[in-house]
Amino acid sequence: MGASNQSESFRDKISTVGTDGKRVWVYPKKQLGKYFNKRALVSYVLLLLLFSGPFIKINGEPLLLMNILERKFVIFGQIFWPQDIFIFAIGMIAFVILVIVFTVVFGRLFCGWVCPQTIFMEMVFRRIEYWIDGDWKQQKKLDNMPWNGHKIFKRVLKWSVFWAISFLIANTLLAYLIGIEELQDIVFGRPSEHISGLIAIVLFTSVFFAVFTWFREQVCTTVCPYGRLQGVLLDKNSIVVAYDYVRGEIRAKFRKNEDRVKEEKGDCIDCNQCVNVCPTGIDIRNGTQLECVSCTLCMDACDHMMDAVGLEKGLIRYDSEEGIKTGKPWKLTTRTKAYIVLMFAIVGLLATLILTRSEIDMNILRVRGTTYQKLTDSTYVNIFETTILNKTNQDHNITLKILSENASVESIGGDLVLKKGEVLQRELIVTMDEKAVLGPSTPVIIGLYEDGVLMVEQKINFNGPGF
Ligand code: SF4
Ligand code: SF4
Repeated sequence: MGASNQSESFRDKISTVGTDGKRVWVYPKKQLGKYFNKRALVSYVLLLLLFSGPFIKINGEPLLLMNILERKFVIFGQIFWPQDIFIFAIGMIAFVILVIVFTVVFGRLFCGWVCPQTIFMEMVFRRIEYWIDGDWKQQKKLDNMPWNGHKIFKRVLKWSVFWAISFLIANTLLAYLIGIEELQDIVFGRPSEHISGLIAIVLFTSVFFAVFTWFREQVCTTVCPYGRLQGVLLDKNSIVVAYDYVRGEIRAKFRKNEDRVKEEKGDCIDCNQCVNVCPTGIDIRNGTQLECVSCTLCMDACDHMMDAVGLEKGLIRYDSEEGIKTGKPWKLTTRTKAYIVLMFAIVGLLATLILTRSEIDMNILRVRGTTYQKLTDSTYVNIFETTILNKTNQDHNITLKILSENASVESIGGDLVLKKGEVLQRELIVTMDEKAVLGPSTPVIIGLYEDGVLMVEQKINFNGPGF
């Protein structure tokens, strides 16, 4: 989308790479405004959640844990085991569909408001940079000046603060990977006993430091796969940060007491503020571009300028290509409604999968190489092995019963006490009356009970003589 009369040559290059192939450093101008304030509020709530998350426990389990090494995953206090992999697989597919559908309808809203990269870069590191180095012009001046006491002081101060925050982020990430207790052991324990943990902390800290100090917008413009997908996901009805070229063109500088309508000038006063504030260094007036992370800063900048010259705000706003072209306000089309219904269905599916997940898994197999044995004249015996997995964070006293007549089951090794998160293995002796044996294979159902309530059941085949 863009001004139809604009040259498309901007699409041939990346705004942050010069003609000599070198990085063009972006010095975005500091910009406050209505959208920034709202984004800041959302960001601070999300940051609070992120940093407090590792300390929050539900029934003794963390809010979120992704321990890949120990293959233990906890979401909202619910433990997921490798046996729940199908929930993960379906969940991941559903999540990808959700992201695609959300993007088709709402564009890169996620990038501007929720993405951790944008939140940390724009709401944390950039704010500190403005505080230490000053606004864009001072930053440029500082970068270009030779190394002297003033510059060394500012650099050491800024990089120390950046390193400290990167260290905090690295520790938080590690807490989500290995758990807060394990992390505390690494941080407060003897270094010689936690070499790999300490290496991980230093490595993560270095990566975050490099990303937020140097790599910055390049993550969004050249690395992030979600950003690269925009070209195929967005359509003319998707909501994006858009410049109203119909109203804005023909752009021309503002002069006091002019009659812009009479002079056939558009509302864009060509002040360049939308470009100056852009953290990815693009000109949104060229139209929707992959580099735009929907950070809304150009919307705030333009609204500020419109206000200053007495023109209507919203020259750059959230709108669709169709909305800009026709001038009609964005409304829900049938297709968009269908997408939103689909999004709710996916979220519902995910919630159902998690909530209806069995708390206890039971798997019964015949002991390898065994067959039936005749115990008395009228009784046959089979030996099975059961593996029972307690996926909850509570202990369970369980019993096993046969749901068929003329048969019984006994576990070898006493009471069946399932400790929280434990895998229990027992041998089972299944006895069956001759009258009930149908031949080489008789289907039998074994139920697992707790306090008389059937928790899970499994069908096995009882081996008997052929008649
Ligand atoms: S074009 Fe506007 S919304 Fe997009 S990245 Fe630049 S300032 Fe942010
Ligand atoms: S901030 Fe608004 S008025 Fe100024 S150049 Fe950008 S679009 Fe035009």
